[in-house]
Amino acid sequence: MAEPAPILRMVDLTKQFGKLTAVDNVSLDIVDGEFFTIVGPSGSGKTTLLRMLAGLEKPTAGDVLLREQRINNVPANKRPTCMVFQSLALFNHRTVGQNIEFSLKMRGVSRLERRARCLELMDMLRLPKDYYGKSVTKCSGGEQQRVALARALASDPDILFFDEPLSAIDYRLRKLLEVELKDLHRATGKTFVYITHSLEEAMVMSDRIGIMREGSLIQIGTPNDIYTQPLNKFVSEFMGEVNLIEVRTGSDGMLDCDSLKIRATSPTKPAGFTDGFLVIRSEFMRFLAAPSEAENHLRGVLYNEYALGSRVQYHVRAGEHMVVIEKLREQAYRGSLNDDVIIGWDAKDSVLVSD
Ligand code: ADP
Ligand code: MG
Repeated sequence: MAEPAPILRMVDLTKQFGKLTAVDNVSLDIVDGEFFTIVGPSGSGKTTLLRMLAGLEKPTAGDVLLREQRINNVPANKRPTCMVFQSLALFNHRTVGQNIEFSLKMRGVSRLERRARCLELMDMLRLPKDYYGKSVTKCSGGEQQRVALARALASDPDILFFDEPLSAIDYRLRKLLEVELKDLHRATGKTFVYITHSLEEAMVMSDRIGIMREGSLIQIGTPNDIYTQPLNKFVSEFMGEVNLIEVRTGSDGMLDCDSLKIRATSPTKPAGFTDGFLVIRSEFMRFLAAPSEAENHLRGVLYNEYALGSRVQYHVRAGEHMVVIEKLREQAYRGSLNDDVIIGWDAKDSVLVSD
């Protein structure tokens, strides 16, 4: 069976602002119905890329194709797409109903029809019916988010673009809305293209993730691909609490870890690897009763521990490093702060990455 044609295709897409190349030769296919997230630090070109896809910015070079049709010069309001911004951009002096019906009103949809569609969307987004006449300023942050989503869905776009819609929302609500967004994606079957600076957020929601750095997409993969095989140190650091140890390959194939004054066994290494970083995720580092319990070990001092709900995180000072270890509560370390501890890992649980 033939591969399904991508709904959206970027071909060597570039955007320059004067001498600055904000988006640098990006080529990417987005599959119909997928939740694709672009992750990168501030200034990496995410918004510029999304604006070109939405028709709010003209590419300097390259093409945007929608179902194989070149749409570079199609204005935003003629594309079957809709943008949800960080600010949500609701009309504050209007009601929930007026906000959601805005695009329908612009297209001359009758009052009755608009209201029916609006109530249907409110139901889908679990906004109570009697919110129809409520001012959006009287809605909570989470409700405003749902109003913005309902408004984006009102015109039945094929693709929804999201520019960091959750970045200004506090942690607990954000976690809830991530789940809601993923459920909404499932319920609507539409294509979502989402941007965020949080890889953690991307992991929760996305089918695939693209990592952006200085205008380029440097790695594309499923959350699992990226989590288990980060391309380089930059991607590893984006994953949050991981251990990164600078290493060089010795003549015998062992890894010299100068900063820890140890040698470590190497996982399968990229061809030609000479130096870089060994990445060991916090859940793969473990406390040992004896050095022989793992392929590699370190001696350190337990500096602190942090309860994280079902898990406990430990910081162990070793050489120049503060090693991070995470365990399920039932596998917690039994001992005290300042204990001399032995910690270790197996090579198969580590990844070698370049700088
Ligand atoms: P991100 O969304 O990842 O934070 P942006 O796409 O907003 O990144 O910006 C990428 C780069 O392009 C930044 O250096 C930014 O200052 C620059 N930039 C964005 N928009 C403009 C513009 N309209 N004019 C000039 N420079 C811009
Ligand atoms: Mg941005």
